Amino acid sequence: MVFVFLMPFSIYNFYLERYILGIGSLSVVLLMAINAWNCWHGRYYPLLILVGLAPISTMFLGFTIYQQGLIGLLWCYPAVICFYFMLPERYAWGANIVLLAMALPMSWLFLDAELAARATATLLCVSAFAVIFVWVISAQQHELHELAMTDSLTGLANRVQLNGTLEQAVQQHERRQTPMTLISLDLDNFKMINDTFGHDAGDEVLRGIGKLLQKRIRRSDKVFRLGGEEFLILLYETDSAQGLLVAEELRKTIEAMPLLPDRSVTTSLGIATLQPKEDWRDWMKRSDDNLYRAKKEGRNRVVG
Ligand code: GH3
Ligand code: MG
Ligand code: MG
Repeated sequence: MVFVFLMPFSIYNFYLERYILGIGSLSVVLLMAINAWNCWHGRYYPLLILVGLAPISTMFLGFTIYQQGLIGLLWCYPAVICFYFMLPERYAWGANIVLLAMALPMSWLFLDAELAARATATLLCVSAFAVIFVWVISAQQHELHELAMTDSLTGLANRVQLNGTLEQAVQQHERRQTPMTLISLDLDNFKMINDTFGHDAGDEVLRGIGKLLQKRIRRSDKVFRLGGEEFLILLYETDSAQGLLVAEELRKTIEAMPLLPDRSVTTSLGIATLQPKEDWRDWMKRSDDNLYRAKKEGRNRVVG
């Protein structure tokens, strides 16, 4: 894009023997091309843009305003947009403020008052819109990220977060040797609950259990809804005996909850404490295998 828009002006400056303008614009084109090349190959160096491209383009713009007045000032508008497009939000604010601090006084110095006033108003306007635009986009991005990571029914973490969280937990265990325990929890005969009380009542049960799990564990621990009526609880700094106690307490509490009109909801739980050098997949499989054993042994129980 830069080649298409800026390069012809750069060549034109050389053609008119305006060498400083030509070299300045060519440097900006080259720096932007290097940045585009890096981005294309998955590398992004915001600091390089902040300490390289932003000051060079600001200085070049200052010189252009000095040499060409209003024509030079016009290039400040794409520069502002570029900063927000290429830099993280806070860096872009910084670069934008520096550019305004250079361009506004210069426009009052080298343009007549009426033009300078218009330039000031429009530059401030473009900067404000750029800030608002980036702010809205970031908020939407954050919202989308949250939506992608969260189970919509219970508000718990979903499977997307599972790999990363368990991998980190294993690394933490290798560094600090603290015990960690997984609890796999599955509702018993949930299909029958759906069939008897309806899908909405089933959803309500899932929400209630999600809330309880979130409430009963420590802030540092993590609960996932893996799908359907299956949950996984990661307990940090918890050994096997403590894990069994937590699981048993959860089982009893859920059984005692008034989730359905005339019967209690029961759960089967499998637990596994992380072994030395164990992979998170094997760890989770052991916890799942224990859950499977709890089902086979008659449900409504904890197997560790
Ligand atoms: P088991 O004791 O062996 O675990 O039997 P189960 O009936 O709980 O297990 P099964 O896997 O046979 O059935 C799970 C049911 O969960 C089937 C599916 O319709 C229901 N289910 C899955 N996701 C949801 C959901 O989001 N809401 C509701 N209400 N039901 C769901
Ligand atoms: Mg089930
Ligand atoms: Mg299941």
